[in-house]
Amino acid sequence: MSSMAADLSSQEVVLSVRHLTKLFPVKAGLLKRTVANVHAVEDVSFDVHRGETFSIVGESGCGKSTTGKCVLRLIEPTSGEVSLDGQDFLALEGDALTQARRKMTLIFQDPYSSLNPRMTVADIIAEPIDIAGTYPTKEERDARVEEVMGAVGLDLAFKNRYPHEFSGGQRQRIGIARAIVLAPEVVICDEPVSALDVSVQAKVINLLQELQREMGLSYIFISHDLSVVKHISDTVMVMYLGHQMELASKDELYANPLHPYTKALLDVVPRIRTERIQDKRILEGDVPSPTNPPAGCCFHTRCPFATERCANEVPASHEAMPNHFCACHLYE
Ligand code: SF4
Repeated sequence: MSSMAADLSSQEVVLSVRHLTKLFPVKAGLLKRTVANVHAVEDVSFDVHRGETFSIVGESGCGKSTTGKCVLRLIEPTSGEVSLDGQDFLALEGDALTQARRKMTLIFQDPYSSLNPRMTVADIIAEPIDIAGTYPTKEERDARVEEVMGAVGLDLAFKNRYPHEFSGGQRQRIGIARAIVLAPEVVICDEPVSALDVSVQAKVINLLQELQREMGLSYIFISHDLSVVKHISDTVMVMYLGHQMELASKDELYANPLHPYTKALLDVVPRIRTERIQDKRILEGDVPSPTNPPAGCCFHTRCPFATERCANEVPASHEAMPNHFCACHLYE
């Protein structure tokens, strides 16, 4: 499967995910038997090309953050494949895993809680270096920390200060510096600006784009904010209740959304809605429980086009248009 629009499809695939699934067992009773499973991620597949921003969007609880954590193996997936630079990432252990992990890092959502309050800025940024054992001398380590602080726009005079002395935007710059200090290939950005003021969001997004150009980074950008995603992405995957609903280039997905869920999501964003001459579709009802997801298409309880078949048969992700994938019986 290719996830890409024409201009990026010639680029090398740096990360390939196939049939990724994560079930969290629900235990109950004295013997703590598994009585159900939370279907957090179900059969998700995508490619990330070098230098690309691949966004995963959806409402809270749709499985986008769990997908990012499973790709990084912060949570072990239940099944599926993750290939990084052609290497089977899920099969790696010990030193081989530590080496491969240098190529893939994470920027957290909340810069307030993701930085150790008892460490100085320099030590926070240098922590991945210290763990990996790169830059072995103090001079090399300090030089690398200063280089990265400069790259993210942090004043070197702040090196020995502590996180509480910084604003939210500056703390996120510290988090970004820590994420790029080992020169990774893929950075998973999990809602990296949603805890920040709108004015600061734009600066952090610009910084991420600048670093991407300079370092050739690939991003997996996880967000619920369709306006930010429209600004930053090359490719977008829409998730609902752990399932991949639609996947296409950003331009194609925003101009020509196919899946009823994507259309409903775009219609509730005022700035995007006015750009499209469409009847407004309102997303009614709540997201069903992932512990007891609906049979058939997981969106059928809220879909205005649902038929009897939708309640019984899971739609497969299908290439409805060139490089435009949609999991809906309407587009088979
Ligand atoms: Fe709606 Fe059926 Fe398509 Fe699901 S498969 S999105 S219920 S039309």
